[in-house]
Amino acid sequence: MEPSTTIDKETSNDVMENFPLFKKLQSYDHEQLVICSEPDLGLKAIIAVHDTTLGPALGGVRMWPYNNEQEAIRDVLRLSRGMTYKAAISGLNLGGGKAVIIGDSREEKSEALFRAFGRYVDGLGGRYITAEDVGIDVQNMEWVRMETNYVTGLPKTIGGSGDPSPVTAYGVYQGMKACAKKAYGSDSLEGKRISIQGAGHVSSSLAKFLSEEGAELFICDIYEDKVKSLAEEVGAEVVDPDDIYGLDVDIFSPCALGGVINDETISELTCDIIAGAANNVLEEEEKHGQMLLDHNILYAPDYVINAGGLINVASELEGYNEQRAHDQASKIYDTILDILNYSEENDTPTYVASNILAEERIKNTGKINQIYTSESKFSGHLGDLYNNIV
Ligand code: NAD
Repeated sequence: MEPSTTIDKETSNDVMENFPLFKKLQSYDHEQLVICSEPDLGLKAIIAVHDTTLGPALGGVRMWPYNNEQEAIRDVLRLSRGMTYKAAISGLNLGGGKAVIIGDSREEKSEALFRAFGRYVDGLGGRYITAEDVGIDVQNMEWVRMETNYVTGLPKTIGGSGDPSPVTAYGVYQGMKACAKKAYGSDSLEGKRISIQGAGHVSSSLAKFLSEEGAELFICDIYEDKVKSLAEEVGAEVVDPDDIYGLDVDIFSPCALGGVINDETISELTCDIIAGAANNVLEEEEKHGQMLLDHNILYAPDYVINAGGLINVASELEGYNEQRAHDQASKIYDTILDILNYSEENDTPTYVASNILAEERIKNTGKINQIYTSESKFSGHLGDLYNNIV
């Protein structure tokens, strides 16, 4: 029997049941998943390249004690996809990637582990560029740098861009002002009651911008000493982490964890705006994005408003310039405003609006890349012909 050239969709789905990993990659539209194993050095890492239409995939490496492979794979797939959208909406010529190292960052770090990871990154030949993420510090990146040039987020003393948190905070501040403009007709945050969840790196810089503008601040953290010293510095009121959602505020700024906007917390919120740095803020994007729209709460999509950190490390690739990174991060104001306007005009959640705008840029760039130039690569017969001519 002649092989059929058309694949029956039902059959194809049945067949895919036997390939759960490929099915997962297809469902998120990923290009590549790399498993890196060096048992003697304690390395169990996974690198995910989501989409390289816009350029090499850039995204941090996270070290976390995942309970199993499935958890780690789910996280790296979700995070790397987020990076594609973050780069696209920020106007960067970068694709989306991310890596995870399975392990406890307090106990299992070593030079050998990070250098081995660096070798695997190098082996991808620039398809993936790494940086810091949760559980990773500058020293670890210096070890990675010993084995590969495909690394960013290095200390300023060796020509890197340093800690990205201040630029992330600046972008969040700009995005928050854009939300205020939409909700209140003015982007001034003077006198606005703003709650901040988390007293970490980003919050510390953000709280200073907000306090300088005259906002009334409420801050919480699970660590009392951290929150107390920040609150004293910026003149904020310390609140219990459990009370943060129900506070009577104009703006809630999640700057700690993901998944904090969910069935339970939405019913407690009284704010007009959610604008913070945390990634994957919506527990379920579709469901909770729609719920916020129904509750008339303006939500600044996480990957748009927190893109300052990516903008900062991306500028390292061209030779770091702090002013240029700041100028680029200030554009988050206009991007958030465009998204809020699109969302209003189309009566659609803000996350849908930002996804549409990001996907449009990827699609258009994909088309541009198809236009032949002398840099284009030939393959097969035409390639041979071309190579013989030149
Ligand atoms: P961080 O670790 O310095 O700060 C997070 C703070 O949140 C910590 O002080 C922690 O104790 C606190 N926290 C944890 N659980 C909490 C809870 N339940 N209630 C209150 N506080 C809690 O991290 P960061 O670098 O400031 O990043 C904050 C968030 O922004 C993270 O979700 C991160 O992924 C995201 N983000 C950061 C950057 C960046 O440049 N640092 C860039 C993009 C996104």
